[in-house]
Amino acid sequence: MRQSQLFTKTRKEAPSDEVSKNAQLLIRGGYIYKVMAGVYVYTPLGLRVLENIKRIVREEMNAIGGQELIMTALQKKSTWEVTGRWDDSAVDIWFKTALKDGTEVGLGWSHEEAIIEMLKTYLVSYKELPINVYQFQTKLRNELRAKSGIMRGREFVMKDMYSCSLDQAQHEAFYESTIGAYKKIYGRIGIGADTYVTFASGGAFTKFSHEFQTVCEAGEDFIYLHREKKIAINEEVLTDETLKDLGVDRNELERVATAEVGNIFNFGTQKSEDTDFAFTNELGEKQYVHLGSYGVGITRVMGVVVEKFSDDKGIVWPREVAPFAVHLLVLGEEVRQDADMVYEQLTSRGVEVLYDDRAGVMAGEKFADADLLGMPLRVVISKRSLEHGGAEVKGRTEVEGRIIAINELVDYVQKDY
Ligand code: ATP
Ligand code: MG
Repeated sequence: MRQSQLFTKTRKEAPSDEVSKNAQLLIRGGYIYKVMAGVYVYTPLGLRVLENIKRIVREEMNAIGGQELIMTALQKKSTWEVTGRWDDSAVDIWFKTALKDGTEVGLGWSHEEAIIEMLKTYLVSYKELPINVYQFQTKLRNELRAKSGIMRGREFVMKDMYSCSLDQAQHEAFYESTIGAYKKIYGRIGIGADTYVTFASGGAFTKFSHEFQTVCEAGEDFIYLHREKKIAINEEVLTDETLKDLGVDRNELERVATAEVGNIFNFGTQKSEDTDFAFTNELGEKQYVHLGSYGVGITRVMGVVVEKFSDDKGIVWPREVAPFAVHLLVLGEEVRQDADMVYEQLTSRGVEVLYDDRAGVMAGEKFADADLLGMPLRVVISKRSLEHGGAEVKGRTEVEGRIIAINELVDYVQKDY
């Protein structure tokens, strides 16, 4: 993509009311546009990052048999009355509104009840199980605090998956495969080494649920971590009983600030009993579905990545989520044709390139923008680089670049980055 055609622009200062680092850098780079606290537009650059994260999540969800769909933002009151969760005293983050005829509707903050209501109309026999469905959905939540930039939105993108299983054994097998899939997801995104499967409060059916917590200063949670044993416990379930269950001692644990990037729940048959979600088993008897729910905070993950991978100059995108692999800079009109040719070469071979082809912009400004925007690789075409035998190539965190011959550039870029 040619940067001269991008409608967004970088800016030197973040808005003074924006306190979080992720939003400051993303706004300065033109990745997001702030509408109000907790509500952000994802511009063409930001959308590319989101789509990369979604692609990774989608691939791993499909790999464990997930079927993708999209539920609705508008929710019926009756759907949520079944479980008592329409009531504002039970769920305090509802946005509610009404149709012209006065019928109350809510804006989806979750889709558990809605998905069950829909699946109920299809599921008949045990032969159809297991069923796993997922979506990427914009959730609307009237959050009290929204000070963490895109890490806590009032409007944010979540991947939510729901599993319907025959029995406990089938459920557990799927639950385990989801833990595996989540580990792959966070690994591919670049935060795997710092993300811990964490014991958290469970609900009616199980003692614990599991959260995926990423070590992050800007996170809102605290976990207690045993690094060697890789055991992590959320503050909310840190009791003597939990410690005994998990075979760890309180003074072996380290308190670390984290962000919850995903979570998984076993509902057992509790929720399906509440909603009368059942099927006919082999003996012709009615049996309740075992339910699980599995979230990933897509936009929160993007914020966490920025919090963790940035320096005083800007963002440092990990390879797999970077909006472009290469930021190509042309310095000087006399080499524009050469740079255009490199752009054609790279893009025709499938390399994603942001091309800073802006005329009349000083070299220093282009360099500063490249650092702020944070593509993994910067490729500069200038009179000097050509005199030295090609393009100057530099990794985002490297101090010195190196000259690569133009005809070797595509191979170089594809091999090393
Ligand atoms: P939290 O404890 O952070 O409020 P939650 O327990 O309410 O999250 P769920 O409703 O289960 O979370 O949502 C699944 C995932 O969606 C979370 O693990 C988190 O990554 C993400 N998420 C939840 N709330 C927000 C929000 N307001 N903005 C951005 N992401 C969110
Ligand atoms: Mg939580």
